[in-house]
Amino acid sequence: MAMKIDTNLCTSCGDCEPECPTDSIKTRKGITKIDAESCTECVGEYTKPKCVELCPIKGCIVQA
Ligand code: SF4
Ligand code: SF4
Repeated sequence: MAMKIDTNLCTSCGDCEPECPTDSIKTRKGITKIDAESCTECVGEYTKPKCVELCPIKGCIVQA
């Protein structure tokens, strides 16, 4: 259970990164990715995935 970022839509703006409770979002070489091993979909932290709420691009972050 994890979220993933559509790299065709993501602008690597960084808005989602600092708010991830599991520190699962990282940008390397200009590409922002979610670590599927550590992403919990924010269960136990928020009622909805925080990154989806923060991302300005609709449909950019979806269930993996
Ligand atoms: S769903 Fe939550 S835990 Fe997973 S990457 Fe987004 S903010 Fe982090
Ligand atoms: S907030 Fe959205 S567009 Fe910005 S880095 Fe995160 S996934 Fe990419």
